[in-house]
Amino acid sequence: MVPPVTKSTLRARLLNGQTGDPALLVSLRWQGRALLIDLGRIDRTPGHVLLPIEAVFVSHAHMDHFMGFDQLLRLFLAREGTLRLYGPAGIADCVQGKLAGYTWNLTDDYAFTLDVTEIHERELVTWRFAAAHRFEREPVGRAPFDGVCFADEILTVEAAPLDHKITSMAYAVTERTHLNVRPEALAALGIRPGPWLNRLKQAVRRHAPDDTPIEIAPGDHRPLGALRDELLLVTPGQKIAYVVDTLFSPANAARIVRLARDADVFYCESPFLDADLDQASRRYHLTAGQAGALARVARAKRLQVFHFSPRYEGRYGELVSEAHAEYHGQQVRYAELEPGGPSVP
Ligand SMILES: [Zn+2]
Ligand SMILES: [Zn+2]
Repeated sequence: MVPPVTKSTLRARLLNGQTGDPALLVSLRWQGRALLIDLGRIDRTPGHVLLPIEAVFVSHAHMDHFMGFDQLLRLFLAREGTLRLYGPAGIADCVQGKLAGYTWNLTDDYAFTLDVTEIHERELVTWRFAAAHRFEREPVGRAPFDGVCFADEILTVEAAPLDHKITSMAYAVTERTHLNVRPEALAALGIRPGPWLNRLKQAVRRHAPDDTPIEIAPGDHRPLGALRDELLLVTPGQKIAYVVDTLFSPANAARIVRLARDADVFYCESPFLDADLDQASRRYHLTAGQAGALARVARAKRLQVFHFSPRYEGRYGELVSEAHAEYHGQQVRYAELEPGGPSVP
């Protein structure tokens, strides 16, 4: 496939819109890869959309965030490879419990493996559940956790634990560096785009030496450094932040603002209106106004609110307007979040 000129690699969409179960698909364009943040019901999403998923990041195991597990498992079961799943401490027990609900006597020659990583305060603890071993839980290892739970050449995923009376994990996906191809430079050099552009980008991201030969056509090798300087525009990567199911407390607000800082898109829950603030606090959720204030203070470039409570059916527009009024500063009910402002109640 010819990698076209593109502004950003990450593309995110809520599989069930703003009102259905949380499930945010983050696709990496031209890479054939995807991440899924939260695993609410996904039965309306076609299999071919879900198959590129290589890792799932679960906020917490309340049903609306985790009941899509069975569907994903069924889709991946007969395939080779490993699906990774991340979540707060205790998520491996939840996975184990789900797997224990089925009979696995005919999967001995299946190559599918599920690697589950629990994000603890200071470490990542991983277990493996292999279809060939009837999904018995096997320890894989432990690694220190410094805020980043997943990292590869293209992107990193940060995790921040929030208080939802249990831990609800918030995530931010960040592209390491964005490499744009300059089409006019390509034309000026008289060379044709092709899969070699992906190889060039990968080599640049790996910080391969400048004299690394890149084959741009059969037998035609050019040094990486020259191609990079001529053809690529190197800009900071895109960032997508995701926050659901959390109390509006000073500690949570500080963590959310840090995680969502300068995000290109900030997906934030806004189940309740400010008028129902008491109800929101009792249920350890944010209001739309609070979501807007968090996005404003984090200087997120775009706010996407979702996870609306069905009690507002027919009035969902009010949740969006309240969040955006606060986000754009047309109404400031949560001034305490501003740096130097009074502390959050
Ligand atoms: Zn919840
Ligand atoms: Zn929820």
